[in-house]
This record gives sequence, structure tokens and C-alpha cells, in this order.
Amino acid sequence: MENLSNGHLESFVKIPTIKFTKLFINGEFLDSVSGKTFETVDPRTEEVIAEIAEANKEDVDIAVKAAREAFDCGPWPRMPGAERAKIMLKWSELIEQNAEEIAALDTIDGGKLFSWCKAVDVPEASNILRYYAGAADKIHGDVFKTSRDLHLYSLMEPVGVVGHIIPWNFPTVMFFAKVAPALAAGCTMVIKPAEQTPLSSLFYAHLARLAGIPDGVLNVVPGFGSIAGAAISSHMDIDAVSFTGSTETGRKIMQAAALSNLKPVSLELGGKSPVLIFDDADVDKAVDLALFGILHNKGEICVAFSRVYVQEGIYDEFEKKVVEKAKTWVVGDPFDPKVQQGPQTSKAQYDKIISYIEHGKSEGATLLTGGKPAGNKGYYIEPTIFVNVKEDMLIAQEEIFGPVMTLSKFKTIEDAIKKANNSKYGLAAGIVTKNLDIANTVSRSIRAGIIWINCFFAFDIDCPFGGYKMSGFGRDYGLEALHKFLKVKSVATPIYDSPW
Ligand code: NAD
Repeated sequence: MENLSNGHLESFVKIPTIKFTKLFINGEFLDSVSGKTFETVDPRTEEVIAEIAEANKEDVDIAVKAAREAFDCGPWPRMPGAERAKIMLKWSELIEQNAEEIAALDTIDGGKLFSWCKAVDVPEASNILRYYAGAADKIHGDVFKTSRDLHLYSLMEPVGVVGHIIPWNFPTVMFFAKVAPALAAGCTMVIKPAEQTPLSSLFYAHLARLAGIPDGVLNVVPGFGSIAGAAISSHMDIDAVSFTGSTETGRKIMQAAALSNLKPVSLELGGKSPVLIFDDADVDKAVDLALFGILHNKGEICVAFSRVYVQEGIYDEFEKKVVEKAKTWVVGDPFDPKVQQGPQTSKAQYDKIISYIEHGKSEGATLLTGGKPAGNKGYYIEPTIFVNVKEDMLIAQEEIFGPVMTLSKFKTIEDAIKKANNSKYGLAAGIVTKNLDIANTVSRSIRAGIIWINCFFAFDIDCPFGGYKMSGFGRDYGLEALHKFLKVKSVATPIYDSPW
């Protein structure tokens, strides 16, 4: 591809040596019981970066035992919230001090843009820790006004030992979106990073130890989903599971939770998010927004604007401009500051995207640009745009999780709302208009967890995030996430010597 950049990386950044490759259990880096390891691969080069200790059920059992001991007997749940906060704040400082190295780890492991990781993802990790550190000493129950002679009140207690299972597309942000509220609540935990991107999680474990998180409170067990992940979701001594990943895996996790100890689960799952661009929109700005919406993080974003619907008055101009601009998109080495799109995270994901593209062509959709691998080495794919897409085609219904846009036309507001809601998913949606009436009506009519009006990927840690429909339930971020890791206990005592 003409615009594939293969910059000389060394001139941009120092590629880090890998220091942490073992399981982190009870404050120590350990080999797995089986001694088995798995490879983590650099998607830019297809070369192995490191061998990582592979957790199986036995390792998960050991990690859960450590977390249970830390919960039942350790200082963390008993510490005043302000003391927990101090340690979390120290951790957030250490993350800031190591931002460059951490960002480079996510780039070599996951093909993420280095400059974005360093400027956004890693600072966000520190912000998430700070936000929940601020909440740690403000956790309290209520006193109830009763009609009887009772003093009745509630306590908010940590739910216990938590299992977190996270995906590979945002290894840093996902790690802290799960771990930080659980820590603030006073829980102890076992987290399984995705097998594709374990490096930054292990680095965070090292920093957690330096920050003073007590042994056993945070345990990191890299490994495969069907083994280590399944061991977490079916564990009898884990009290809650917080999961982000595909809808298919979410279903398995819910089933495993139901068949084991009925632990509550929260599921942040897949999406097929629409963006509706109305006739009054500024076409150039809408083109930029739509491309950012599907190509950011190479389309490996659960909230990606993968379905673009444009009103008929501006459709032709939009189509011409979006294709022209997609052709200039710079795909290449994610360390190069000029590059806008790096490689897909793994060979499996790359193959899956290519197969969806082939499916789209064979279903009869028209490819306007892209549709092919970019370059000869690494998992790069050209920005791809399909038109003449029927609503029931696989590429319009299934989450591709890659740089593939379907572009269609709509006539009326009602038509737009109907198309937007025509999905089993309901994670996010976009509206591009200057008309407040349209923005208000449409945002209330779409069944999705977040609506972006004239923007994409606009988040704040205080804002709860999660899905409708098969995009899951439960919320990350905000105080809602803190409450996932708390349980309410009611306490009653007679006021007088009354006969209760
Ligand atoms: P995935 O479901 O394959 O894997 C996610 C995690 O689950 C990994 O750690 C994996 O090892 C583990 N896992 C796999 N099988 C398991 C099993 N049987 N039991 C327990 N754990 C298991 O998803 P993925 O391909 O890694 O990630 C991409 C998906 O994640 C996409 O569908 C995307 O939309 C979704 N996602 C959602 C959000 C959100 O907030 N809603 C955010 C990011 C990604």
C-alpha cells in the first residue's frame, strides 16, 4: 500500500526490554505450576516478543487462595479508606513516571499507536486510580427512618474476592477500569489479562508492589480464556466476576457463574455501533468523525462507528469525500508519529477481519476502497469501506472489530432510528447534526449505553459506561462501577427494650 509507513523506529522510541513474564501471586513473580509458557507476538513483525508463564486451573486456585487470605485476614479490607487511597495514589504516580515504557509495551504487544498510548491511555490509568482513590473514604450506608422502635441502618461492605477478565484492545485502560474500583471498595482480586497482551498487566503488578499494595490483594494470572478464564468464572471461592470481551464469551461466563456459586457477573460486551449523519451536518467534519470512529485503534474498539448512515441530501458528497480521505490514511508502524493506524493485534483477529471482508464481497456489497492486507509483513489491513450493504448482511450485523465501515443512506429521522436500532447490540451510537430537536429525539430513541452527539469516544471517568441488549449489563467507570464491588448489609437493633 502506497501510504504504508515503515519508519525507523529507533529514532522515535526505545523499545523496552521485557522484565516481567511470570505470574504475579501473593506479591511474588512465579512460574506456573506446570512450568508451561506461551508466546506473545509483536503484530508489527509477527515475531515472538517473550515467553509468558501460562496459568492453568491450579495456578488460579493458588491465586484465589492468596486473595481469599488477604480478604479474610489481611489489612486491605480493614484499612481506613484514606489509607487505601494513599497507596492507590502512589501507584498512579509510579505509572506516570513509567509512562513511556508502559506505552511501548502496549504498542509492541497490541499494535497500538505509541503516541496515543503515552498521551491518553497511560494517563487515563493514573486518572482512574485517582478517581477511585478519591471515593475510597466516602463509602457508607444509610440510616433508615422506620415506623417501628428500631435503629435500622445499612453497611456497604466489599463484595470479597473478585475475578476480572479483560480483552486485548485496551490492555491498560481495561486493567484499571476493573482493578481500581474494586481496590477502593476494599476487595482483593485475581485478574486475567488477554493472552494476546499480557505485558503491561505484569508491569502494573510490579508497580503495585512498589506502591505498597499488600501481598495477595492483586494477583495477575496471564493465560488462555478456556483454561485460566474458565477457572475464574467457575471458581467456588470468587465472589464476583467483572468481564469485558465478546458477547460469545460473556454468555459462557454467565453460564459458569450460574453453574458454580451463583456469583454476580458484570458483562461489558461487543457492539455494532451506528452513527447517523443528518443533512445539516458539516460534511468535512462528519467525514473526519466517521473515519476516526471506525479507524481509531484500527477498528478494534467495542464502540467503533462501524455502521455509518448518511441522510440522502448530503450522501453523495459524503461518500466521495470519505473514500478520498480513507485512501490517504497512514497505515504503518505504530511507533511512527505520522502513522494513524497500526497492525491488528493478532493473526487470529487479522484473519477474522479479512474473512468478513471476503464475506461482504461475496454477499454482494460493493467495496469502495481497501479490502486488502497492507504491506507484506505484520497484521496490517487497509481502511475498508463497503456500500450497497443490505441491513441483513453479515457485515452489517456482526461485530468485525477491524477497520471496516459499512456506509448506507437514510431518508427520514424515523428511518434513521429504525436502522440504528436494527442490531442485537446496543453499546454506543453517534448523531451528527446541529439541530437540537433531532439530537434530543434521536438520543432518546436509540437503545444504547452511550450516545455521542457530534463527537466520538468522548469519555470521562465519572461517566458510567456499558451496554444495552446483547452488549451486556453492569457499568464500568463512575461510582456505578464502585457499587459493583460493594454489598449492602442491613443491621437492625431495638431502640428500647422492645419485644423483637
Ligand atoms: P474474548 O471474549 O475472546 O476474550 C476476552 C477475555 O476473555 C480474554 O481475556 C480471554 O482470554 C477471555 N476468555 C475467552 N474465553 C473465555 C472463557 N471461556 N471463559 C473465561 N474467559 C474467557 O474477546 P476478545 O476477542 O479478547 O475482545 C474483543 C471483544 O471484546 C469484542 O467483542 C469487543 O467488543 C469486546 N469489548 C467490549 C468492551 C466493552 O466495554 N463493552 C471493551 C473492549 C472490548
